[in-house]
Amino acid sequence: MTSEQALQTLLDGNKRFVAGQARHPNQSSERLAELVARGQHPIAIIVSCSDSRIPPELVFDQGLGDIFVVRTAGQVLDDAALASIEYAAEHLHVPLAVVLGHQDCGAVKAAVGGGDALGHISTLVKRIQPAVEEARDKGGDVLDGAVRIHALSVARQIESSEPILSELVTDGRLKVVGAYYSLASGEVQIF
Ligand SMILES: [Zn+2]
Repeated sequence: MTSEQALQTLLDGNKRFVAGQARHPNQSSERLAELVARGQHPIAIIVSCSDSRIPPELVFDQGLGDIFVVRTAGQVLDDAALASIEYAAEHLHVPLAVVLGHQDCGAVKAAVGGGDALGHISTLVKRIQPAVEEARDKGGDVLDGAVRIHALSVARQIESSEPILSELVTDGRLKVVGAYYSLASGEVQIF
């Protein structure tokens, strides 16, 4: 499957989800047995926020073995997250990575609010801060703007990650796109 076909499959699934016509494909015990026997060949890597309102398998109407999901609050990448993406792209030959920001993201909201964040949360906030500053410069809705800028920035971070991901992107074996998920409508918009 090409990255274009993978993206279309995801968008078709999202359309079904939004319309209340989800098929919940590939969720049978037969599918699981097939995956155990033949291994996994997911069509896309989804890098998204851990927010409980955006489970990627539901949002894109996919099932077992269909998508390789990496989630952290605010989809901030650390080495473990990048390694997970590398594994999927290099070893499983997944052609597409979608970085999914979302409406009303708590992690981005914390970065917009500023102040001292507790414990490890301060790491997330610091990483999102540049997107907030850029959104403030642009004007308009700062939270929503920062969500979009941050998703794109994470996509660029994946594309430029050396040595593995940047090479896959240059060779045309991996396409990375940013996207926005509307909590209100359930719709995913690709940038
Ligand atoms: Zn979030």
